[in-house]
Amino acid sequence: MIVIIRPDATPAQLTNVVALIEQMGCQAHISRGERRTLVGIIGNGRPFDVERIERMPGVEKTMPVTRPFKRASREFHPDNSVVAVGDVVVGGSEITVIAGPCAVETEEQMSAIGRAVAESGAQMLRGGAYKPRTSPYSFQGLGEEGLKILARVRDETGLPIVTEVIQPDLVPLVTRYADVLQIGARNMQNFALLHAVGQAHRPVLLKRGMMSTVEELLMAAEYILSHGNDRVILCERGIRTFETYTRNTLDINAVPLLKQLTHLPVIVDPSHGTGMRDLVEPVSRAAIAAGADGLIVEVHHRPDEALSDGNQSLLPEQFVELCASVGAIAAAVGRLM
Ligand code: PEP
Ligand code: MN
Repeated sequence: MIVIIRPDATPAQLTNVVALIEQMGCQAHISRGERRTLVGIIGNGRPFDVERIERMPGVEKTMPVTRPFKRASREFHPDNSVVAVGDVVVGGSEITVIAGPCAVETEEQMSAIGRAVAESGAQMLRGGAYKPRTSPYSFQGLGEEGLKILARVRDETGLPIVTEVIQPDLVPLVTRYADVLQIGARNMQNFALLHAVGQAHRPVLLKRGMMSTVEELLMAAEYILSHGNDRVILCERGIRTFETYTRNTLDINAVPLLKQLTHLPVIVDPSHGTGMRDLVEPVSRAAIAAGADGLIVEVHHRPDEALSDGNQSLLPEQFVELCASVGAIAAAVGRLM
Protein backbone atom coordinates (compact mmCIF):
# COMPACT_ATOMS: atom_id res chain seq x y z
CA MET A 1 0.00 0.00 0.00
CA ILE A 2 1.20 3.50 -0.83
CA VAL A 3 0.03 6.65 0.87
CA ILE A 4 0.17 9.73 -1.34
CA ILE A 5 0.86 12.81 0.72
CA ARG A 6 -0.79 16.09 -0.28
CA PRO A 7 1.63 18.67 -1.71
CA ASP A 8 0.58 21.15 1.00
CA ALA A 9 0.93 18.69 3.91
CA THR A 10 3.01 19.92 6.84
CA PRO A 11 6.02 17.97 8.20
CA ALA A 12 4.01 17.31 11.37
CA GLN A 13 1.19 15.71 9.34
CA LEU A 14 3.71 13.45 7.61
CA THR A 15 5.17 12.48 10.98
CA ASN A 16 1.69 11.62 12.24
CA VAL A 17 1.00 9.40 9.21
CA VAL A 18 4.26 7.51 9.80
CA ALA A 19 3.44 7.17 13.50
CA LEU A 20 0.01 5.71 12.76
CA ILE A 21 1.48 3.20 10.28
CA GLU A 22 4.02 2.09 12.87
CA GLN A 23 1.35 1.94 15.55
CA MET A 24 -0.51 -0.52 13.31
CA GLY A 25 2.56 -2.79 13.43
CA CYS A 26 3.73 -1.93 9.89
CA GLN A 27 6.84 -0.24 8.56
CA ALA A 28 6.77 3.12 6.79
CA HIS A 29 9.07 3.90 3.88
CA ILE A 30 9.18 7.58 2.93
CA SER A 31 10.09 8.52 -0.64
CA ARG A 32 10.53 12.22 -1.36
CA GLY A 33 10.27 12.67 -5.11
CA GLU A 34 10.59 15.77 -7.21
CA ARG A 35 6.83 16.24 -7.34
CA ARG A 36 5.42 14.08 -4.57
CA THR A 37 6.13 12.57 -1.21
CA LEU A 38 4.91 8.99 -0.82
CA VAL A 39 4.84 6.70 2.17
CA GLY A 40 5.09 3.02 1.37
CA ILE A 41 3.54 0.69 3.91
CA ILE A 42 5.22 -2.65 4.47
CA GLY A 43 2.71 -4.80 6.25
CA ASN A 44 3.17 -7.64 8.67
CA GLY A 45 0.78 -9.98 6.89
CA ARG A 46 -2.22 -8.81 8.91
CA PRO A 47 -4.95 -6.56 7.53
CA PHE A 48 -4.81 -2.92 8.58
CA ASP A 49 -7.25 -0.05 8.61
CA VAL A 50 -6.75 1.78 5.31
CA GLU A 51 -9.68 4.10 5.85
CA ARG A 52 -8.14 5.37 9.07
CA ILE A 53 -4.99 6.32 7.15
CA GLU A 54 -7.01 7.98 4.40
CA ARG A 55 -8.78 10.15 6.98
CA MET A 56 -5.49 11.55 8.33
CA PRO A 57 -4.83 15.25 7.61
CA GLY A 58 -2.23 15.65 4.85
CA VAL A 59 -3.17 12.39 3.10
CA GLU A 60 -4.43 12.64 -0.48
CA LYS A 61 -5.19 8.97 -1.14
CA THR A 62 -3.86 5.44 -0.84
CA MET A 63 -3.03 2.98 -3.60
CA PRO A 64 -2.53 -0.78 -3.37
CA VAL A 65 0.83 -2.33 -4.35
CA THR A 66 0.19 -5.74 -5.78
CA ARG A 67 3.81 -6.76 -6.38
CA PRO A 68 5.57 -8.87 -3.76
CA PHE A 69 8.61 -6.55 -3.79
CA LYS A 70 8.00 -3.24 -2.04
CA ARG A 71 11.15 -1.21 -1.36
CA ALA A 72 12.53 -2.22 -4.75
CA SER A 73 9.35 -1.24 -6.62
CA ARG A 74 8.84 1.81 -8.81
CA GLU A 75 5.56 2.42 -6.99
CA PHE A 76 7.37 2.93 -3.70
CA HIS A 77 10.03 5.12 -5.30
CA PRO A 78 8.96 6.60 -8.65
CA ASP A 79 12.26 8.42 -9.34
CA ASN A 80 15.36 6.51 -10.46
CA SER A 81 17.74 5.69 -7.62
CA VAL A 82 21.33 6.61 -8.21
CA VAL A 83 24.07 4.72 -6.44
CA ALA A 84 27.23 6.70 -5.73
CA VAL A 85 30.55 4.89 -5.46
CA GLY A 86 33.05 7.61 -4.57
CA ASP A 87 32.85 10.02 -7.49
CA VAL A 88 31.21 7.46 -9.78
CA VAL A 89 27.43 7.56 -10.09
CA VAL A 90 25.46 4.54 -11.30
CA GLY A 91 21.94 5.12 -12.59
CA GLY A 92 22.27 8.80 -13.56
CA SER A 93 22.46 10.20 -17.07
CA GLU A 94 25.93 8.75 -17.59
CA ILE A 95 26.61 5.13 -18.59
CA THR A 96 28.94 3.39 -16.09
CA VAL A 97 31.48 0.91 -17.39
CA ILE A 98 33.12 -1.55 -15.01
CA ALA A 99 35.97 -3.57 -16.50
CA GLY A 100 38.72 -5.94 -15.47
CA PRO A 101 39.64 -9.60 -15.38
CA CYS A 102 37.39 -12.36 -14.16
CA ALA A 103 39.85 -13.16 -11.37
CA VAL A 104 42.76 -11.45 -9.68
CA GLU A 105 45.77 -13.62 -10.63
CA THR A 106 48.91 -11.59 -9.93
CA GLU A 107 49.78 -8.00 -9.08
CA GLU A 108 51.44 -7.59 -12.48
CA GLN A 109 48.27 -8.83 -14.25
CA MET A 110 45.89 -6.65 -12.22
CA SER A 111 48.04 -3.58 -12.57
CA ALA A 112 48.49 -3.98 -16.36
CA ILE A 113 44.76 -4.51 -16.93
CA GLY A 114 43.78 -1.82 -14.42
CA ARG A 115 45.96 0.80 -16.10
CA ALA A 116 44.70 -0.17 -19.56
CA VAL A 117 40.99 -0.01 -18.71
CA ALA A 118 41.41 3.22 -16.74
CA GLU A 119 43.00 4.83 -19.76
CA SER A 120 40.19 3.65 -22.04
CA GLY A 121 37.52 5.21 -19.84
CA ALA A 122 36.36 2.48 -17.42
CA GLN A 123 35.01 4.06 -14.23
CA MET A 124 35.43 1.02 -11.97
CA LEU A 125 37.70 -2.00 -11.86
CA ARG A 126 36.47 -5.57 -11.39
CA GLY A 127 38.33 -8.70 -10.33
CA GLY A 128 37.37 -11.69 -8.23
CA ALA A 129 39.49 -12.64 -5.23
CA TYR A 130 37.00 -15.32 -4.17
CA LYS A 131 35.77 -17.32 -7.17
CA PRO A 132 32.68 -19.53 -6.96
CA ARG A 133 33.80 -22.19 -9.45
CA THR A 134 31.74 -25.07 -10.78
CA SER A 135 34.64 -27.46 -10.21
CA PRO A 136 36.46 -27.68 -6.87
CA TYR A 137 39.66 -28.29 -8.88
CA SER A 138 39.45 -24.97 -10.76
CA PHE A 139 41.27 -21.84 -9.57
CA GLN A 140 39.39 -20.60 -6.50
CA GLY A 141 40.93 -17.12 -6.31
CA LEU A 142 43.73 -15.62 -4.21
CA GLY A 143 41.50 -14.75 -1.24
CA GLU A 144 42.74 -11.92 0.97
CA GLU A 145 45.96 -11.62 -1.03
CA GLY A 146 43.76 -10.84 -4.06
CA LEU A 147 41.92 -8.16 -2.09
CA LYS A 148 45.25 -6.56 -1.16
CA ILE A 149 46.29 -6.51 -4.81
CA LEU A 150 42.96 -4.89 -5.74
CA ALA A 151 43.46 -2.20 -3.10
CA ARG A 152 46.96 -1.44 -4.41
CA VAL A 153 45.71 -1.21 -8.00
CA ARG A 154 42.91 1.08 -6.83
CA ASP A 155 45.59 3.38 -5.40
CA GLU A 156 47.52 3.19 -8.65
CA THR A 157 44.60 3.82 -11.03
CA GLY A 158 42.12 5.74 -8.89
CA LEU A 159 39.36 3.30 -9.93
CA PRO A 160 36.97 2.01 -7.25
CA ILE A 161 36.95 -1.78 -7.07
CA VAL A 162 34.11 -4.25 -7.48
CA THR A 163 34.76 -7.73 -6.11
CA GLU A 164 32.68 -10.74 -5.20
CA VAL A 165 31.87 -11.95 -1.71
CA ILE A 166 30.76 -15.57 -1.56
CA GLN A 167 29.86 -16.22 2.04
CA PRO A 168 28.45 -14.22 4.95
CA ASP A 169 31.47 -14.56 7.25
CA LEU A 170 33.69 -12.97 4.58
CA VAL A 171 31.57 -9.79 4.30
CA PRO A 172 33.54 -7.81 6.95
CA LEU A 173 36.89 -8.72 5.34
CA VAL A 174 35.80 -7.96 1.75
CA THR A 175 34.16 -4.71 2.93
CA ARG A 176 37.53 -3.57 4.29
CA TYR A 177 39.00 -3.61 0.78
CA ALA A 178 36.15 -3.30 -1.74
CA ASP A 179 34.16 -0.28 -2.90
CA VAL A 180 31.31 -2.45 -4.24
CA LEU A 181 30.36 -5.93 -3.00
CA GLN A 182 29.38 -8.25 -5.84
CA ILE A 183 26.87 -11.03 -5.25
CA GLY A 184 27.35 -13.62 -7.96
CA ALA A 185 24.67 -15.44 -9.92
CA ARG A 186 25.21 -18.63 -7.90
CA ASN A 187 24.55 -16.76 -4.67
CA MET A 188 21.58 -14.64 -5.70
CA GLN A 189 19.34 -16.57 -3.33
CA ASN A 190 21.88 -17.13 -0.57
CA PHE A 191 19.65 -15.37 1.92
CA ALA A 192 22.20 -15.36 4.74
CA LEU A 193 24.63 -13.61 2.38
CA LEU A 194 21.95 -11.12 1.25
CA HIS A 195 21.24 -10.39 4.92
CA ALA A 196 24.95 -9.82 5.61
CA VAL A 197 25.50 -7.43 2.68
CA GLY A 198 22.23 -5.72 3.62
CA GLN A 199 23.96 -4.70 6.83
CA ALA A 200 27.26 -3.73 5.17
CA HIS A 201 28.15 -0.14 4.45
CA ARG A 202 28.97 -0.68 0.79
CA PRO A 203 26.94 -0.63 -2.42
CA VAL A 204 26.01 -4.09 -3.69
CA LEU A 205 26.12 -5.34 -7.28
CA LEU A 206 23.50 -8.09 -7.36
CA LYS A 207 23.73 -10.47 -10.32
CA ARG A 208 20.72 -12.37 -11.58
CA GLY A 209 20.83 -16.07 -10.89
CA MET A 210 21.25 -18.15 -14.03
CA MET A 211 17.95 -19.91 -13.32
CA SER A 212 16.12 -17.06 -11.66
CA THR A 213 13.15 -15.05 -12.81
CA VAL A 214 13.10 -11.27 -12.86
CA GLU A 215 10.75 -11.37 -9.88
CA GLU A 216 13.16 -13.58 -7.92
CA LEU A 217 15.95 -11.10 -8.67
CA LEU A 218 13.81 -8.27 -7.33
CA MET A 219 12.92 -10.28 -4.23
CA ALA A 220 16.65 -10.90 -3.66
CA ALA A 221 17.20 -7.13 -3.93
CA GLU A 222 14.33 -6.69 -1.47
CA TYR A 223 16.25 -8.78 1.10
CA ILE A 224 19.22 -6.41 0.86
CA LEU A 225 17.04 -3.28 0.98
CA SER A 226 15.01 -4.59 3.89
CA HIS A 227 18.17 -5.15 5.94
CA GLY A 228 19.06 -1.49 5.64
CA ASN A 229 21.23 -1.15 2.54
CA ASP A 230 19.52 0.88 -0.17
CA ARG A 231 22.52 1.01 -2.49
CA VAL A 232 21.75 -1.92 -4.79
CA ILE A 233 22.70 -2.20 -8.47
CA LEU A 234 21.04 -5.01 -10.45
CA CYS A 235 22.88 -6.95 -13.13
CA GLU A 236 21.45 -9.04 -15.97
CA ARG A 237 24.10 -11.62 -16.85
CA GLY A 238 22.23 -14.17 -18.92
CA ILE A 239 20.12 -17.15 -18.04
CA ARG A 240 20.20 -20.82 -18.98
CA THR A 241 18.10 -21.82 -21.96
CA PHE A 242 18.15 -24.72 -24.44
CA GLU A 243 20.68 -22.80 -26.57
CA THR A 244 24.18 -24.20 -26.22
CA TYR A 245 26.26 -22.17 -28.69
CA THR A 246 26.49 -19.41 -26.14
CA ARG A 247 27.33 -19.84 -22.45
CA ASN A 248 24.07 -18.17 -21.42
CA THR A 249 21.21 -16.38 -23.15
CA LEU A 250 21.31 -12.70 -22.28
CA ASP A 251 17.75 -11.73 -21.42
CA ILE A 252 17.56 -8.34 -23.09
CA ASN A 253 13.87 -8.14 -22.16
CA ALA A 254 14.91 -7.96 -18.53
CA VAL A 255 16.53 -4.55 -19.03
CA PRO A 256 13.48 -2.45 -19.99
CA LEU A 257 11.29 -4.66 -17.80
CA LEU A 258 13.43 -4.03 -14.73
CA LYS A 259 13.53 -0.31 -15.51
CA GLN A 260 9.71 -0.38 -15.41
CA LEU A 261 9.38 -2.46 -12.27
CA THR A 262 12.12 -0.94 -10.14
CA HIS A 263 13.92 2.33 -9.45
CA LEU A 264 17.24 0.55 -8.91
CA PRO A 265 20.03 0.95 -11.50
CA VAL A 266 20.36 -1.91 -13.98
CA ILE A 267 23.61 -2.93 -15.65
CA VAL A 268 24.43 -5.75 -18.06
CA ASP A 269 27.27 -8.29 -18.10
CA PRO A 270 27.80 -9.16 -21.79
CA SER A 271 30.82 -11.36 -20.92
CA HIS A 272 28.96 -14.01 -18.90
CA GLY A 273 25.83 -13.29 -20.93
CA THR A 274 27.49 -14.64 -24.06
CA GLY A 275 30.68 -16.45 -23.04
CA MET A 276 32.17 -15.46 -26.41
CA ARG A 277 34.61 -12.60 -26.90
CA ASP A 278 33.29 -11.70 -30.36
CA LEU A 279 29.75 -11.24 -29.09
CA VAL A 280 30.62 -8.93 -26.23
CA GLU A 281 30.66 -5.67 -28.19
CA PRO A 282 27.39 -6.14 -30.16
CA VAL A 283 25.56 -7.33 -27.05
CA SER A 284 26.92 -4.35 -25.10
CA ARG A 285 25.47 -2.06 -27.74
CA ALA A 286 22.11 -3.81 -27.47
CA ALA A 287 22.15 -3.47 -23.68
CA ILE A 288 22.71 0.28 -23.77
CA ALA A 289 20.14 0.69 -26.55
CA ALA A 290 17.62 -1.18 -24.35
CA GLY A 291 18.18 1.25 -21.48
CA ALA A 292 20.87 -0.31 -19.29
CA ASP A 293 22.69 2.08 -16.96
CA GLY A 294 26.05 0.44 -17.49
CA LEU A 295 28.14 -2.60 -18.29
CA ILE A 296 30.47 -4.94 -16.46
CA VAL A 297 32.97 -6.38 -18.93
CA GLU A 298 35.79 -8.88 -18.56
CA VAL A 299 39.14 -7.74 -19.97
CA HIS A 300 42.45 -9.60 -19.89
CA HIS A 301 45.83 -8.63 -21.35
CA ARG A 302 46.68 -12.32 -21.95
CA PRO A 303 43.31 -14.07 -22.26
CA ASP A 304 44.88 -17.33 -23.44
CA GLU A 305 46.66 -17.60 -20.10
CA ALA A 306 43.72 -16.42 -17.96
CA LEU A 307 42.94 -18.68 -14.99
CA SER A 308 39.23 -18.20 -15.61
CA ASP A 309 36.93 -16.96 -18.39
CA GLY A 310 39.67 -16.24 -20.95
CA ASN A 311 37.32 -17.10 -23.85
CA GLN A 312 35.00 -14.26 -23.03
CA SER A 313 37.64 -11.71 -22.02
CA LEU A 314 38.39 -8.82 -24.35
CA LEU A 315 41.92 -7.73 -25.11
CA PRO A 316 42.58 -4.18 -23.87
CA GLU A 317 42.52 -2.88 -27.46
CA GLN A 318 39.12 -4.50 -28.02
CA PHE A 319 37.90 -2.80 -24.88
CA VAL A 320 38.93 0.56 -26.37
CA GLU A 321 36.82 -0.24 -29.43
CA LEU A 322 33.91 -1.33 -27.28
CA CYS A 323 33.92 1.98 -25.41
CA ALA A 324 33.87 3.98 -28.64
CA SER A 325 31.16 1.87 -30.18
CA VAL A 326 28.96 1.82 -27.07
CA GLY A 327 29.51 5.58 -26.69
CA ALA A 328 27.82 6.14 -30.05
CA ILE A 329 24.78 4.12 -28.92
CA ALA A 330 24.69 5.97 -25.58
CA ALA A 331 24.57 9.28 -27.45
CA ALA A 332 21.80 7.97 -29.71
CA VAL A 333 19.62 7.12 -26.70
CA GLY A 334 20.35 10.39 -24.92
CA ARG A 335 22.89 9.12 -22.41
CA LEU A 336 26.39 10.38 -21.72
CA MET A 337 29.46 8.20 -21.70
C1 PEP B 1 31.97 -13.08 -12.42
O1 PEP B 1 31.53 -11.94 -12.47
O2 PEP B 1 33.15 -13.40 -12.68
C2 PEP B 1 31.02 -14.19 -12.17
C3 PEP B 1 31.40 -15.30 -11.56
O3 PEP B 1 29.79 -13.92 -12.64
P1 PEP B 1 28.39 -14.71 -12.41
O4 PEP B 1 28.20 -14.74 -10.94
O5 PEP B 1 27.43 -13.82 -13.15
O6 PEP B 1 28.55 -16.05 -13.04
MN1 MN C 1 34.01 -14.52 -14.90
